Amino acid sequence: AGEVVGSVDKKHTISGVINVPQRILMGPGPANAHPRILAAQALPLLGHMHPPFLAIMDEIKSGLKYTFQTDSPYTLMVSGTGHAGMEACISNLVEPGDKVVVGNAGIWGERVVEMSKRFRGEVTDLKVPAGQTVPYELLKQTLEQQKPALLFLCQGESSTGTHQNLTGLGELCKKTGALLLVDTVCSLGGVPMFADAWGVDAIYSGSQKCLSAPPGGAPLFLSPRAMEKIQRRKTPPATYNLDLNLIGDYWGWFGKRSYHHTGMVSTCYAMREALALVNEEGLESMWSRHKELHHRLWDGLHSMGLKSFIEKDEDRLITVNTIKVPEGIDWAALIKNAMDEYNVEIAGGLGPSAGKVWRVGIMGYNARPANIELVLTAFKDGLKKQGWKKF
Ligand code: PMP
Repeated sequence: AGEVVGSVDKKHTISGVINVPQRILMGPGPANAHPRILAAQALPLLGHMHPPFLAIMDEIKSGLKYTFQTDSPYTLMVSGTGHAGMEACISNLVEPGDKVVVGNAGIWGERVVEMSKRFRGEVTDLKVPAGQTVPYELLKQTLEQQKPALLFLCQGESSTGTHQNLTGLGELCKKTGALLLVDTVCSLGGVPMFADAWGVDAIYSGSQKCLSAPPGGAPLFLSPRAMEKIQRRKTPPATYNLDLNLIGDYWGWFGKRSYHHTGMVSTCYAMREALALVNEEGLESMWSRHKELHHRLWDGLHSMGLKSFIEKDEDRLITVNTIKVPEGIDWAALIKNAMDEYNVEIAGGLGPSAGKVWRVGIMGYNARPANIELVLTAFKDGLKKQGWKKF
């Protein structure tokens, strides 16, 4: 080796053990992770192709089949957050020139419009006013007229707090030749999803919400119909990193295992443990736990004179609740008071709801009565301090 040319003249200041405050995360996510999941994540590393690790990947695939309620063999966890799942679905399911209809009820619809365009889809943007869901009749009419390759809907639109009803849409998509793609980042595990029974073709989700794991993994599902479309593509997707044929081959979709990227070993431990917890509690119990706490939250909020941002009861999302900021109330001051005095995160609005709402998440490990009571106490105190007289 030759002589080293150069000297260490850039400085940094980090040293000592990391200091992280403990907070109760009752915004739209991440939610606090379950301690058993955090413990799993700290276990020793394995190689990403070692048989014991491949067995953990198999457990994740099987746990996801239960969580999505599907018999399809095509489940896996994309390395990355919800956006990676979103981009994996769009980039693989949209071929240049494909018609894509996007149910756009908030920022996630907005991003799918943008992403679909980047992958050269021809997008019809079915944008609805903030706080509403996309009406079935509009979807039916659009699908019948346009015969798109793909319909996107967001089950839980966390920017506005709406829950998109998916009833009948799978059937409609099959009739008109479209694939049905659904975002479940903030809804999977918190509200019902029956991928097969509802005729859904592709789903992406996130680890950090109702599944109680840290951010970093995106559960994904494809129906056999979606897989056929991917395998029939004329050109490979414009992304190598998120090519689902290649990622699927690492996850054993095609009967073998090929290296595509280094699997996120610790994140997979976390997801394995998260899915074990889902199985141990059972989906129905999880859904009813979330629902009961949603009612408990709203009983308390209503008694303070607060109202939902969502007009129609049936459009309200259980897992991310949007609360109208009353006139004369400083929403940011209430959030700051909640954090300063109670160590609890309440979030403001996002995209179309910015400045208009507070958002309260009821998700996974955090969906517990004590947390709801804490949020209600923080609201009461924050409102009192601003002279709110309605309770
Ligand atoms: N979709 C929805 C409905 C979400 O709530 C989020 C996260 N807030 C995302 C997509 C994006 O996920 P991530 O931030 O994990 O990339």
